[in-house]
Amino acid sequence: MNLPMVSRACPVCGSDNQYRVFKEAAFDASRWGRFAFASRKTPEYMHYRLLECRRCDVLYANPLPTRESLEAAYREADFDSGEEARYAGNAYAEFLPQILSKLTRREAALDIGTGDGAFLEHLLRSGFQRVVGVEPSKAPVDAAAPSVRGLIRQSPFRRSDFEPGSFSLITCFQTMEHVYEPLELCQSAFELLHPGGALFLVCHDRRALSARVLGTRSPIYDIEHLQLFSRESLSYALRRAGYNDIATHSVVNRYPISYWTKLFPLPPRAKGAALGALKKSGLGSVSLSLSAGNFAAIGYKR
Ligand SMILES: [Zn+2]
Repeated sequence: MNLPMVSRACPVCGSDNQYRVFKEAAFDASRWGRFAFASRKTPEYMHYRLLECRRCDVLYANPLPTRESLEAAYREADFDSGEEARYAGNAYAEFLPQILSKLTRREAALDIGTGDGAFLEHLLRSGFQRVVGVEPSKAPVDAAAPSVRGLIRQSPFRRSDFEPGSFSLITCFQTMEHVYEPLELCQSAFELLHPGGALFLVCHDRRALSARVLGTRSPIYDIEHLQLFSRESLSYALRRAGYNDIATHSVVNRYPISYWTKLFPLPPRAKGAALGALKKSGLGSVSLSLSAGNFAAIGYKR
């Protein structure tokens, strides 16, 4: 598979001369499989050439494949992570009471990059009058529970598909790393929110302890990630898009032990053996709470 590559300026602050080269590309196009663009897959330790922006602190891929070729790759990406999506959704839902208490209205909620719509259940239970998800890949939408499948629009997120000022809450989890223009996503969400509404994001923290210790063996360095944020760089994007009362928080994930093992950097054969033993013993399905190096960022439209 040979993808056409293009170059770009910093996708958060727009500067094109404030970078240092963070990592040269580690990239083998012959290993691109259908799982390369799936969520929560086994890490492959491939990444683009990564630049670190000195002005806003984001790490960004440059050059990177064209938007058209990435959208085509996502459309066909496989999905095998329904269980993990449920666990992740439960962790993110912990933040909802705090956010809901600050919302002026509870009309409509939108989940961008909703996957199989696991989080839509939480939004429905929170009392929103209308709940909608968007997801570019077909496979997770096909795997969605019947209770939420009808609420998911299978398409990349586009501002023009929705009415400006019509949402009270927009959520977007583990997706900002994948989108072509992350600042534009924040700006689009701002336009779609009514005054008093909120944007709630969850991202990998490139400055988390796990990322610093593991270096490029960390699963966050991956060809599906076009940029990687720190709390500083995501707050910068939210400020630039017009949000107020911006706050960031650590996320504690509760996952089965087998999933933590899948993420851990082990040689493939050792990982296969460990996963097999965990499955056989039943231990793999025991869940364990850990900080996986994710953070939540919340901003309000005042
Ligand atoms: Zn920048």
